[in-house]
Amino acid sequence: MPKAATVALMMTLVLFLSLTLRPTPVAPPASPSPKVVRVVVDAGHGGKDPGASIGGVDEKDLNLALALRVAALARSYPNLEVVLTRDTDRYLTLEERLAVAHRLGAAAYISIHGNSFPQATRCGVETLVDTTRSPGDPSYSLAEHVQREVVLATGAQDLGVRRQPLYLSSCKVPAVLVEVGHLSCPAERIRLLSPAYQDRLATGILQGILEFLGL
Ligand SMILES: [Zn+2]
Repeated sequence: MPKAATVALMMTLVLFLSLTLRPTPVAPPASPSPKVVRVVVDAGHGGKDPGASIGGVDEKDLNLALALRVAALARSYPNLEVVLTRDTDRYLTLEERLAVAHRLGAAAYISIHGNSFPQATRCGVETLVDTTRSPGDPSYSLAEHVQREVVLATGAQDLGVRRQPLYLSSCKVPAVLVEVGHLSCPAERIRLLSPAYQDRLATGILQGILEFLGL
């Protein structure tokens, strides 16, 4: 082989090798997945415990319908995971409900209930914080957000945030109990049974949670 041809061949080979043996570019690190915040939503009562039972309506069914709607709406928010204590009509002890939040290290616990009073004239929404929570406890902030957003979403009468002895005293995360309306108030009971109204309630509850979490 003539010398010039050998040199040309060598150069081609070097070029070829320099192109093919280039180190494989390192893939940029995958962008970290967004931090997912977990929140527990509890449908009060269930199974053998109907809660308030008025006018053919069991509170446990209303609570479950609302919790399922909140969880469904929350699927649009990738940074938020709503975990339900129950997604069927089954009985859970209060300890079992709180254990879900503790096991997950949840950022918040929201228990959904329907209200019942001897006076049929008492109507509206209120959000309760356990009396053992000291001032400055984030449960109050959670309660304020949930209460405001539920009232805004529904136009229901605003009974405000109240302190009341609840089973949430042993809850280790910010916790509230939202009374979404009164089954003992005839006009409100009819609204509570409406799927469209339930959607508004669920939207308000979720919005309150999102605001509390800063999402
Ligand atoms: Zn209840």
